[in-house]
Amino acid sequence: MKLFPVRGGVHPEYRKERTSELAIVALPLPSTLYLPLQQHIGAPAEPVVAEGDLVKKGQLLARGAGPVSAPTHAPTSGRIAAVTQVTAPHPSGLPQTTIVLEADGRDEWAELPAPIADPFAADSQAIRDRVAQSGIVGMGGAAFPSAVKLNLGTQNRLETLLINGAECEPYLTCDDRVMREYAAEVIDGARIMAHALGAPQVVIAIEQNKPQALAEMTRAAAGIAAVTVVGVPVQYPMGSERHLTQAITGRETPAGKLTAELGVVVHNVATARAVHHAVRFGRPLLARVVTVSGGAIGKPANVEVPLGTLVSELVAFCGGLSQPPRRVVNGGPMMGQPLPNLDVPVIKGMSGILALTAEETNEQPSRACIRCGTCVTICPCGLVPVEMAAFIRKDNLEAAAKLGVTDCFSCGSCSYVCPSHIPLVHYFNYAKGSLAAANREKRKNDQVKALVEAKAARLEKIAQAKRDAAARAKAAAPSTPEASA
Ligand code: SF4
Ligand code: SF4
Repeated sequence: MKLFPVRGGVHPEYRKERTSELAIVALPLPSTLYLPLQQHIGAPAEPVVAEGDLVKKGQLLARGAGPVSAPTHAPTSGRIAAVTQVTAPHPSGLPQTTIVLEADGRDEWAELPAPIADPFAADSQAIRDRVAQSGIVGMGGAAFPSAVKLNLGTQNRLETLLINGAECEPYLTCDDRVMREYAAEVIDGARIMAHALGAPQVVIAIEQNKPQALAEMTRAAAGIAAVTVVGVPVQYPMGSERHLTQAITGRETPAGKLTAELGVVVHNVATARAVHHAVRFGRPLLARVVTVSGGAIGKPANVEVPLGTLVSELVAFCGGLSQPPRRVVNGGPMMGQPLPNLDVPVIKGMSGILALTAEETNEQPSRACIRCGTCVTICPCGLVPVEMAAFIRKDNLEAAAKLGVTDCFSCGSCSYVCPSHIPLVHYFNYAKGSLAAANREKRKNDQVKALVEAKAARLEKIAQAKRDAAARAKAAAPSTPEASA
């Protein structure tokens, strides 16, 4: 398959060898699980259980609320101990409403929806409904409700479902292991999703530093004409939807547009496997594979973890901390978010837990910009980080917006290469947050203004009607002697 060059990018030290050769292991069932209602992009789910309820594995605990949302299910059987805001913080560091489930140790299944016997003969809406009911979200980290993405075929003419097996973040190997150990499940889930989307072909893109995953997936796809497995160059951030699409199609997704408008929808390999489970067995999303790594982890591993497990239990299962970490990150070291502490639960989009040492984070005091231009050369979005940061430092966010700061997807490449150690991506995150807040405020003010104007117009209409009625009454009244005098 012909591949196309992708602009910019970097080659960080990958450090994947710590876990890439270790088979996925299952975490023993914890005694208590903490399931936040916000595990995805969109509206938080709404609880349908209350304290004291007895639930079975796979039972619905909270339903999706609105068009962009996803339900949550019980990862095991047990008793609902609480539906609370305070017991367990969220990985974001903010308190979120959380369902606390005490496991009864029996791991008894609820009655699940019947398998869809022949998914390729099923109506595509039936597949989307099953994916929505199963609480599946993008498992590469984005956590966007997958059923919403599977709807893109109704609004766009799609050519390709692109399965993202790039896993370009250093340290992370969970997708690599899923592809090596569950290749047939990934391929089946991908074909089912392509059917739901109406996309005639599936391309599975894997970075060339995963030869065994490439071999396993190629073997599993043998003889399936609509599925192509392709090795893509090792180049961070190849796993970004837009850049992977460019590598495969040669087309750049314009700012503010979706890859679907180019005929391509991208899903992650673990998401494809979850779709296979939901459609073939009626199983909702209850667990995920997480890479636990970093220099401060006792025994790095890839672990299949029930959702809601505390990160502290997961880390203890992986040999605990061998030294105090400089930083613990949810995700990869380039785009991952620092965790507030280890007492937060594993959620659907959590692909990695990295406990990084000071040597690994390599934090150094920033110095003055030397105008070397490296950040400009490597930005995969063609932005000018040095200039954007200069405007943001002067609090001129409008100027930074004109240079395209809102198109920055926070890949961190510019910060990584900067010889002056300027935390450029922090500036851009700050600017994007402030611009988004200002836009929200402006929209709110515009709405209030429109409401006030509409009310004033209504009142004026009523007053005019009264004036007209008074004038008509006056005209119709019989004239009096005083009036005619
Ligand atoms: S963080 Fe933003 S500005 Fe920096 S390289 Fe990535 S996309 Fe470009
Ligand atoms: S890489 Fe750093 S030092 Fe070089 S131009 Fe960009 S901000 Fe300045």
